[in-house]
Amino acid sequence: MKQLLQFLSLLVFLLSATIKSNAQAEYKKITGYRAYYGWAKHAPQDWMILREFVNDGKSYLLLVNPQTLETKIDEPGFYEIKPMTIDEARVFFKSTPYVKALQKAEKQSLSTQDAGIESGMPKQTGISLTADLCPSHKPLDKVIFTSIIAEFKKVEQPVPVALSVTGIWMRQHPQDLEWLKKLQGEHEIYITWINHSFNHRVSAKLPLKENFLLEAGTNINYEVLETEMAMLKNGLMPSVFFRFPGLVSDKELVYQITDFGLISIGTDAWLAKGQQPQAGSIVLIHGNGNEPVGVNDFIKLLKSKTQSIAKKQWLLYDLRESVDEEFQGE
Ligand SMILES: [Zn+2]
Repeated sequence: MKQLLQFLSLLVFLLSATIKSNAQAEYKKITGYRAYYGWAKHAPQDWMILREFVNDGKSYLLLVNPQTLETKIDEPGFYEIKPMTIDEARVFFKSTPYVKALQKAEKQSLSTQDAGIESGMPKQTGISLTADLCPSHKPLDKVIFTSIIAEFKKVEQPVPVALSVTGIWMRQHPQDLEWLKKLQGEHEIYITWINHSFNHRVSAKLPLKENFLLEAGTNINYEVLETEMAMLKNGLMPSVFFRFPGLVSDKELVYQITDFGLISIGTDAWLAKGQQPQAGSIVLIHGNGNEPVGVNDFIKLLKSKTQSIAKKQWLLYDLRESVDEEFQGE
């Protein structure tokens, strides 16, 4: 009996240790954060290296699984490492869904608005939800999250959602961020964090071609890397996705972003602009309190799908899987 109790307490200890290790660590003392590419070999899964940094004297890598688009932070000691340029790494991993998605983003780089991947697989019955957190003094629109959790409770848990976050929003909204992290920690939602630039500068006067990240004086290195660092300091895992502020870019900017190993994500259904979602759509709403129309449209859409959701005929898709599936087995 005593042995059984000992065994059970060991089991509980191991389980709680596993659960804790799933929570994302916070890297509060980052130095030397930089783009660094290569091959991190560790059988059976190879990873591509995207960044390296030091935190509190210890080295870390940001890695992507090029088959699934999953990202993680790990210590270099676990891998056999071959440093490469981004171009060499793209050739080395050329047959993977990750590199094919980068290529597709580049192919769709010509338009001033909405460049990049703007929908997933049409065979999907449902959508991928993306909500942008541009700088805002208003609180997070929590109803988006409480509504999807309530609607999908019996069907999908955690419910996948992708949030495009800016550095400024993270600084302005520590409590909202804690609230989101708590929902993720309790497995109510799973958040894919999209880089939406640090400052998200916008001018009311300038034409689109000189606005947002195309405005003179933009430091793209800072906009990309500082946002990733802010994510890591706040305990968020950067993904391989980027959303242009205002959805505005030009060809050169798209290539600058893919040179960071990031895939630009557009939308084919910006609800507040009246665009109707189709099967496989990447839906855009704003979660920063500045676009109540889009949020209301989304809640209406959810309510109209209640029966389909219950029958698993209308689902929310993980953005990583939506983009990934398109290039699997190609
Ligand atoms: Zn924005």
